[in-house]
Amino acid sequence: MKVKKNDNVVVLTGKDKKKTGKVIAVMPKANKVLVEGVNVQSKSKKARSANETSQIIKKEGAIDASNVMVICPVCNKATRVAHAEVDGKKARICKKCGASLDAKFEKASKKAVKEEAAPKKATTRKKKTETEEVKTETVKKTSTRKKAVKESAEAENA
Ligand SMILES: [Zn+2]
Repeated sequence: MKVKKNDNVVVLTGKDKKKTGKVIAVMPKANKVLVEGVNVQSKSKKARSANETSQIIKKEGAIDASNVMVICPVCNKATRVAHAEVDGKKARICKKCGASLDAKFEKASKKAVKEEAAPKKATTRKKKTETEEVKTETVKKTSTRKKAVKESAEAENA
């Protein structure tokens, strides 16, 4: 296949024409690819327990690999792919600038995957704690205000 996982591609046809995204999976047998943010399908998921919330899950649908074009990481252009041997290994070459499409990508994409995978769970947890903190603060404020009113009333009586 000309397209590989973690490639940046541009969509050539369909409702997501001209969209760009990272390839998240390839299916060589079907000649299809999954591209981040492209051909997204929504599914609603109902809460089955008290801890769950109903939500809409968005998932990418596979698109035909021939409908995407690889974007060269070096010259940043959508390009056709040439195949060549570099150091005895098969490599994909950008037809526009001649740079290898593989070597540089591997380093960059590994880093990107790490950064994306980590923070998702953390943010959900943080949100919950924040709401709890806000609640306790409001309660405190109300009780202080009542106390203040009581005190000023007593001062007037005296
Ligand atoms: Zn190039």
